[in-house]
Amino acid sequence: MTATSPGEPGHDGVMLMPTRACEEPMADKRWIAETLFEELGFRMTFAVERVLYETATGHQHLVLFEHKLFGKMLMLDGATQVTARDEFIYHEMMTHVPILAHGRAREVLIVGGGDCGIAEEVLKHTAVTRLTQVEIDASVVEFSKEHFPEFTGAVLADPRFDLVIDDGMNYVAKSDRRFDVIIVDSTDPQGPGGVLFTYDFYAACKRCMAAGAIMVTQNGVPFLQPDELVSSVGHFHRLFADAACYVAAVPTYVGGHMAMGWATDDAALRRLSEDTIAQRHARAGAFATRYWTPHVHRAAFALPRFIAEAVENAKN
Ligand code: SAM
Repeated sequence: MTATSPGEPGHDGVMLMPTRACEEPMADKRWIAETLFEELGFRMTFAVERVLYETATGHQHLVLFEHKLFGKMLMLDGATQVTARDEFIYHEMMTHVPILAHGRAREVLIVGGGDCGIAEEVLKHTAVTRLTQVEIDASVVEFSKEHFPEFTGAVLADPRFDLVIDDGMNYVAKSDRRFDVIIVDSTDPQGPGGVLFTYDFYAACKRCMAAGAIMVTQNGVPFLQPDELVSSVGHFHRLFADAACYVAAVPTYVGGHMAMGWATDDAALRRLSEDTIAQRHARAGAFATRYWTPHVHRAAFALPRFIAEAVENAKN
């Protein structure tokens, strides 16, 4: 095989990116691996510019490091949670889709959401009167105050925001509040996050939902984690009139489309016209976005066949 210099197409036509690695021996760097897919024989590793914070909390292993491309990266138990570079995609789609589909959301609940990236997006909706975030691990929020001020600054200063440190299952099982939108921004179904993918948790969430309410859930990457989505949609189907999902592509949630579960008793809410969605965004203050648009909102429910079939099979 003839070596090709950077910038020239290789023998297989793949463009080799000029690498500065030649100058900075990458071997000297620490590499941190995303271990979520190890069982699949698949690892993604990141060259660490600087470790900003690392600890074992009472619930999970937490590491925050600086990465050349993605900026600050937070990993919990070997799974990428949020990066400064691509956070806007997941945070905007988990927030603006359900809130604008609902159209009159006042009371919003976030389960998980430690870094407050979702909370920051929710509070852009001026009509929301109260946002409650139930996070199991206080140290994730504490650490985010120092390391993610771009999220926590505005959130913790907002009088509409209240933070509850508790297991999300415990909270929804006991709460007498009724929410218009529930956003489950959890870790994956391992460790403390496991209970947030169970039938009992979704049933307890349903009990806390007002009429016409919507619940959306972090549901992994169907190409690599099909069972996560199928299991949740199966539970939704038994509890709600409308069980579905929508998708977005998040670069550091590797493996293609990221799925966000959708559960409501009002099947019309995911079939709104682009005009209606655009009008609602305008009424909500027409805040700036970098991923979400009325067009992307609607298109996100148009699923590739393999995901659409998985969702339909989950209902059998
Ligand atoms: N966007 C990220 C993702 O898709 O992987 C999730 C971000 S957020 C950091 C996840 C949060 O869920 C963490 O702070 C974690 O502590 C919290 N969490 C995990 N299990 C929980 C539970 N049972 N109740 C409440 N919060 C939980």
